[in-house]
Amino acid sequence: MSIDNATPEEWNAAAREARDEPIECSKTRKCGWKGMHSDLVSAPHKRFANAQQHVCPCCGCDSYYRREARK
Ligand SMILES: [Zn+2]
Repeated sequence: MSIDNATPEEWNAAAREARDEPIECSKTRKCGWKGMHSDLVSAPHKRFANAQQHVCPCCGCDSYYRREARK
């Protein structure tokens, strides 16, 4: 999904689907947080007034990488 073209509805749907994905903060050197998507904290979306986005619980960064799932 391209975030730039997503509607708020698409954004929220994608965020719900992503909840169980293992991720890590994109600030790998400054922050280094790793966890599950559901560990992120909700914050008002920067671009969509009526949407929520999920940010790193450690540094508040709003971008993160998807990790390989380990089961
Ligand atoms: Zn972080």
